[in-house]
Amino acid sequence: MAKSRFEYVRNYELPDPLIPGTFIVVRIDGRGFHKFSDAHQFRKPNDKRALDLMDLAAKTVMNEYKDVILAFGESDEYSFLLRRNTKLYNRRRSKITSSIVSLFTSAYVFHWSVYLPNTPLQYPPSFDSRAVIYPTEKEVRDYFAWRQADTHINNLYNTAFWALVQGGQTTTEANKTLQGTDSKDKNELLFSKYNINYNNLPAMYRKGSICVRQPLPMSTVDPLSPTPPVTQRLATTADIIADHDSSLDQPNAQLANDEQKPIKKPKKVKPYEGIDGELVIVYEDIIKDQFWNERPWLLL
Ligand code: ATP
Ligand code: ATP
Ligand code: MG
Ligand code: MG
Ligand code: MG
Ligand code: MG
Repeated sequence: MAKSRFEYVRNYELPDPLIPGTFIVVRIDGRGFHKFSDAHQFRKPNDKRALDLMDLAAKTVMNEYKDVILAFGESDEYSFLLRRNTKLYNRRRSKITSSIVSLFTSAYVFHWSVYLPNTPLQYPPSFDSRAVIYPTEKEVRDYFAWRQADTHINNLYNTAFWALVQGGQTTTEANKTLQGTDSKDKNELLFSKYNINYNNLPAMYRKGSICVRQPLPMSTVDPLSPTPPVTQRLATTADIIADHDSSLDQPNAQLANDEQKPIKKPKKVKPYEGIDGELVIVYEDIIKDQFWNERPWLLL
């Protein structure tokens, strides 16, 4: 097609690549959800239906974008971790941030009525989106620790705040009551005045939601097995990495046999590609080592 004389305007679109080989975190956050949650009668301090809807929207994103390997959500926000070497949209910042937040938002609206069937949407909700790059595993872990610590601080405050309000204080009074209190004071207040043991509240509220892929059973990630036997054992990452190192680059032994149909050399499976199991939501500690030790592929 011939170029029009208008085409030069294209040159005003500047490249916006994210540095290669760095972890990308995309965080989306609801716009004006203080008002949105009021307008839609969210239960306070935590409306589980709205949190479940957020989780489903995050799952939709991870289903569509396989390079998103982990997501963490709380309140009206979600953070998505893309694997270090992702080539998604050639790592163009605006393509990545806009595509993720757009799909998240449409999934949120698409599934709204499943979780809040008796609450019609009053107006179209929207989310903002940003991308931050982190150079090493340390910053990635600290990033998610930061968000989970935030979840805890906010939830403790909100739980105490709404207990006071439901106990008869005005919102202004409740605010004042909590001024200058530390977390020990809030725990104590909840326990002594309202008989609430904070640690017994649902983990979803205290820890936020983590969306990850559960490793598939060994058989389904073994590319050398044409008809994989069904085994119940879950593949550990060590298994997958071992497979990758020892066998996948070897010529297929069966090719030596003329009688047999040649079997294609198995595709080189990178450890994280082996981890394309079912998406699950867990409410776990992401600050300590255990979560990461159990899923070392996240930080490869
Ligand atoms: P901004 O547009 O700057 O993000 P905002 O009003 O969305 O403003 P946030 O700091 O993002 O402010 O806070 C989101 C607010 O939405 C929370 O403080 C809370 O009041 C409300 N909210 C979000 N999710 C829930 C939920 N599941 N249950 C109850 N309230 C919720
Ligand atoms: P990409 O994800 O890279 O944008 P794409 O498939 O969306 O890929 P575009 O160059 O954006 O490709 O083109 C959008 C295509 O969608 C059009 O070429 C056309 O085939 C189709 N399309 C969009 N709107 C209409 C419409 N109103 N009627 C018919 N076809 C449409
Ligand atoms: Mg905000
Ligand atoms: Mg918000
Ligand atoms: Mg928020
Ligand atoms: Mg298009």
